[in-house]
Amino acid sequence: MSTTPPNKIIIAIDGYSSCGKSTMAKQLAAQLAYTFIDSGAMYRAIALYFIRTNVNINNQDEVKTALQNIKLSFIWNERTQQSDIYLNEENIATEIRELSVASKVSAIAAIAEVRSFAVAQQQAMGKDKGIVMDGRDIGTVVFPNAELKIFVTAAPEVRVQRRYQELIVTNLDISIDDVRKNLEERDYIDTHRKESPLVQARDAILLDNSNLNRTEQLALVMAWANEKIKDN
Ligand code: C5P
Repeated sequence: MSTTPPNKIIIAIDGYSSCGKSTMAKQLAAQLAYTFIDSGAMYRAIALYFIRTNVNINNQDEVKTALQNIKLSFIWNERTQQSDIYLNEENIATEIRELSVASKVSAIAAIAEVRSFAVAQQQAMGKDKGIVMDGRDIGTVVFPNAELKIFVTAAPEVRVQRRYQELIVTNLDISIDDVRKNLEERDYIDTHRKESPLVQARDAILLDNSNLNRTEQLALVMAWANEKIKDN
């Protein structure tokens, strides 16, 4: 007797900076054999292009022309067993994590043209479902009909420590105050911008992971996902 494969769903994960959204989304996607998309990496890639080419973000024409010259893609990396983001055929997965990009990305992600450019590509990636995407507006704007929405948060100091531990590996000069300032700034811009501000979708489950380790968190979200897949 053949078994019908379970119906695939869309899982939207939103929340503040450095809450571990991407790690959680990646693990969830691996367990479900779904595609994982880090939408923040797309905004970081756009920001990197803008920085490199000195785009004046207050000039709409310059912004539009720059976007026309950007091609983003995710390509599987066998060595690291994860997808790397490419900007016009160049692997920029490492470069986009630098604080120089983090310090500019939120202002660039607040531009309406930038958002519609990224959102159109994100929606196309989810057309066959079976996707876990994390970001700031995934459950509210990109996939408002996602079957499972999770809004992640953690205590500010926990988030600062987590991001600091991640960045110090490659940049020994970084200070904890730089990291704290960057997170505060990005959270402020993300929650106060006019275009698609970061808010919890009405139907999202709130997950505070301050006191959860990765294994506990994964067990919890897998249970939510399996429940939705069963009902779908
Ligand atoms: O997720 P990550 O911290 O890498 O995202 C970098 C920045 O990109 C965020 O601070 C936010 O300004 C922007 N972003 C966004 N919408 C998304 C994902 C990220 O505006 N869906």
